[in-house]
Amino acid sequence: MVKKGLLQRLSEGPVVGDGSMCFLLEKRGYAKSGMFTPEAVIDYPEAVLQVHREYVRSGADVVQTATFYATDDKLAYGTGKEKVAYSSVDINKAACELARKAASENDCLIAGGFSPVPSFRDEGEEAARKEFSKQADAYRNESIDFVIAEFFHDIREIEVCAEEMRKLNLPIVLCMRIGPGGDVNGTAVEDCALRMAKTGADVIGTNCSFDCNTSIKVLKRIKAALVHENLDKYLICQPTGFLCPETEDHPNGFFSLPEYPLCLDPRIMTRIEAHRFARQAWDAGVSYIGGCCGFEPHHIRSIAEELEPERKLNPPVHDMARAFGGEFFKNSLTSELRKEVLRTGDYWYSMNPASGRPFSSSVSKPKTGMKFQ
Ligand code: ZN
Repeated sequence: MVKKGLLQRLSEGPVVGDGSMCFLLEKRGYAKSGMFTPEAVIDYPEAVLQVHREYVRSGADVVQTATFYATDDKLAYGTGKEKVAYSSVDINKAACELARKAASENDCLIAGGFSPVPSFRDEGEEAARKEFSKQADAYRNESIDFVIAEFFHDIREIEVCAEEMRKLNLPIVLCMRIGPGGDVNGTAVEDCALRMAKTGADVIGTNCSFDCNTSIKVLKRIKAALVHENLDKYLICQPTGFLCPETEDHPNGFFSLPEYPLCLDPRIMTRIEAHRFARQAWDAGVSYIGGCCGFEPHHIRSIAEELEPERKLNPPVHDMARAFGGEFFKNSLTSELRKEVLRTGDYWYSMNPASGRPFSSSVSKPKTGMKFQ
């Protein structure tokens, strides 16, 4: 049977993306915090494959290659410009093979990823174009289904990237890490949206930096800007899994939190909050819904479960348990009355989870003046 492509799937209903790769690998000891380059695809392929498989099992429709920051300039940057162990081509090819293996287990789409390059800031557009072009060349013969650019903070940089992506003749998805304040130069959300749409991309939206609540606000503005100009594009939202409302007006979002990167765990959304996010995103007109840093397989499972009526697809994990722990509680030792309560969505939806830390605050003070790419 021929695999349905991205655009056909989007025309039929929601597409569920996958979640974090870099953050999850770092947590598990397979990537360097701060660098987040993906040498693990060659050094620890089983670790990367396991992450892919967990997303597939949770119900993701997409397996995104573990190629974030996998350009030669960024790999050199990550090592402090010492000798680089692997080239961009080595990493991209190895990553595609792992993604293919996992994707074949549930008829998933393979997305070849692009991310910002230090050359853009340090040397300019043409140097950046060369890096994107090398990465595109690595994807050329790899049987991927579409390409996705993510984490871009400068509208001009993603435009340059999109020009190189277009040479692959595949559907194009563009994501910027923008909050209500727009891109790094203050380009408004609406202008970023229109310029992304005008690159010829098929899907546009946001990923990373901001949480689901802030990101949905931004997506609503993107949608309104497109409608105003009579432009019709599918929308994508892949926010951070960390709740960080106090960073909404900070250009770097959750990266400006004092807890970044090692103490963010208490902010990770619950799976019920992931259910709510999926519904709100779909209702706002977003049809490609997944997650970024902090999003783990159980969150993707919640998205897949929430959108099950629209997708008419069960996550593979349903052979073990249904949403809201239906099967989970069947033979548990809790009382019959409590079992009934726990099985209902209302109980979980009204939950206000505690942190377990008597003096923990609900928000912290974001740091200002930080710069990074
Ligand atoms: Zn992220």
